Amino acid sequence: MNPKIRVGGYYSPLFYDLVGKPNILIDLTNDPCSKFKSIKISDKLKIPFITASTSKNKGKVMVYTPMSKTERIILSKKNYTQSIDEYLFPDFENCQQGNITSGLIAGLVTEEIRKSVIKLYDYDKLMKKGVTYNLLSNRRFKDECEITLGISDYLNEKNLFKNKKVAIIGAGSIGNFVGLGLSLMNFDKIYLIDMDKIEENNKNRQILYTLGNYVGEKKVEILSRLMNKINPTTQSIGIYGKLGNNLNKEEKRKQVKLINESEFLKLDCDLILGCLDNISARAFANRLAVKNSIPYIDGGTSPFSGQVRVYSPGKTACLDCQENIYSQAIEEQNKEEISDHCTANDHEPSVVMSNQIIGAAILGEIRTLFYPEVYGQPVMNGMLYNSFDRDRLVLNKIKCKPNKDCLCSKKFYNK
Ligand SMILES: [Zn+2]
Repeated sequence: MNPKIRVGGYYSPLFYDLVGKPNILIDLTNDPCSKFKSIKISDKLKIPFITASTSKNKGKVMVYTPMSKTERIILSKKNYTQSIDEYLFPDFENCQQGNITSGLIAGLVTEEIRKSVIKLYDYDKLMKKGVTYNLLSNRRFKDECEITLGISDYLNEKNLFKNKKVAIIGAGSIGNFVGLGLSLMNFDKIYLIDMDKIEENNKNRQILYTLGNYVGEKKVEILSRLMNKINPTTQSIGIYGKLGNNLNKEEKRKQVKLINESEFLKLDCDLILGCLDNISARAFANRLAVKNSIPYIDGGTSPFSGQVRVYSPGKTACLDCQENIYSQAIEEQNKEEISDHCTANDHEPSVVMSNQIIGAAILGEIRTLFYPEVYGQPVMNGMLYNSFDRDRLVLNKIKCKPNKDCLCSKKFYNK
């Protein structure tokens, strides 16, 4: 992916006498013994240590900052053992690591590594108390599981989505992570819709496009090809197209296919995943979802933050009721008309971590849309990520109710 860095591999368990002094130590095993050793090394070399583990439904990450000898002496032996115990994550021992949970935790780990090496602002601090991501909690970031998975046919998770079709709108930064994870979830069909070609400057965050010489190729073609390789039992189909009502001159010239409402409905999708970087497209997808009662999960990112919103017909408010995207879309269009040929390149640079975190969080909401009786409710008011926030990830506390004039409200209250 990046020939400029050198990666050494050691087929060996962690040993106490590390060669040289790394800047940071990261333990991604589910093995408390390995984590215990890492803490010892971290204390000895005085380097921070990131500990992370996942199971299918849960993931956890914490950062340990080394204690000095005096600190250790001040703490009684009992207290020292207690204080390092919480970094060992024994609950995860012998668990199989999960696709979605690992995606989200890996994004958080990478961001902490970044912080330990390059601190951008005074408030850009390593995490203090750790983050838990728990798909069996309706509150998502709490340790306690409220959802107990009973013995049910649904638990044959391999087949959960085998009759479902899904559309990913956008094959950019978030779309890369969503496509990668989604291809492992055994859907019947995945449609990818995007009208961009791969550019050299995409490669710092759209990781799958670094796997070959793809500059100049259509994103949907490369991404769907890779997804078909990852899981040939799911058919991934790339559509070089634009979801919307019309094409501009440039789009016509590029032979972009217009996917308007009737074209989209022909795909017969059970779910829409919005991985978009502009509000107008999200507004169009939201209208389409509400009008046709199709569940819609939308993710958005900036370099250090992001959010996920879920529209579940009849159960949650739509995206416009949650965050006024229709008026924001009009504002966005007006701005574009003013700046005219400014090819929208003044967007903030997108970085890999927020996209990985939000991409995984999108995937984490899918089960709840189809099987709420087993997996609990989707997030009602959105999920927010902020790298500078002490908690990193939270559920939005502001309750989002459907506006009574919105079409989504009729579905909501008539249920
Ligand atoms: Zn609405």
